Amino acid sequence: MPELPEVETIRRYLQAVLVGQAPTGVRHLDPRLIRIGDASAVEIAEAMRGVPIAEVGRRGKYLWLRFPRQGFLVLHLGMSGRLLWEERHRPWAKHTHLVVGFPQDQELRLVDPRRFGRVGWLPALLALEDKLGVEPLGPRFTAEYLARHCHSRRAPIKAVLLDQSVVAGLGNIYADEALFASAIHPARAACALADGEVARLRQAIRRVLRRALKYRGTSFSDYVDALGHPGENQHYLAVYGRRGHPCPRCGAPVAVIPVAGRSSHFCPTCQPIGDGDAEGALALYPNAEERDHATV
Ligand SMILES: [Zn+2]
Repeated sequence: MPELPEVETIRRYLQAVLVGQAPTGVRHLDPRLIRIGDASAVEIAEAMRGVPIAEVGRRGKYLWLRFPRQGFLVLHLGMSGRLLWEERHRPWAKHTHLVVGFPQDQELRLVDPRRFGRVGWLPALLALEDKLGVEPLGPRFTAEYLARHCHSRRAPIKAVLLDQSVVAGLGNIYADEALFASAIHPARAACALADGEVARLRQAIRRVLRRALKYRGTSFSDYVDALGHPGENQHYLAVYGRRGHPCPRCGAPVAVIPVAGRSSHFCPTCQPIGDGDAEGALALYPNAEERDHATV
């Protein structure tokens, strides 16, 4: 699933090619993908046509294109969505659900085999802001902020990290990597973490995201950038996708357990749950309302 580094990598490229360009028209938009805002496919096409894009932005895992005095085309890539900048003569891939035409025979295409992606039109970004917590690489993501959200939650720390209303943009890959880097078991109760552990975790989150940005995202099967190129960060992951492989710190095999309904990769030696951590043991079986809110 594309997380912050993957979406940001796409954003950076699209910002460079799209700003100043006005769509010539929407060539295809599957109405079933419209799950943001109230505008219809026809209204979305009308609002964009001939209006030069002022900015390509990102908030959490959402991408948006800003059309001055009109509004925002908002996209979420879901589990398997690809946003591609392609020449018009190239055939559409299977599962192409959105095609926006641009001058010089270029097209912006959303391809999404699993259909968890969503698009829509918002007159302002407030509706998005209301749902999302702070940006993990931004100035508001302080150790105090994270501690405040941990202290009130008995849910596993992994579930808190996946909750987009706390930190926007983290998903399974970078939550697992950050928990490993800070030596915290994913199933430990968030409220049981000491302040020092929370501070370490916050640092680790920022570090793993920055490194993933440097290597232009993680590609296992689905993710590619806007030109169709895979990222390189999968070569630098410590635990995610490495079940049974030796832990890079101690050599013990990387284990996988379900936490908050998601597969969690961790090192049982480097990330002990602690004998006295009764909250953590409880947290292995979170109740439904504490499940992650990874999909806003
Ligand atoms: Zn280890």
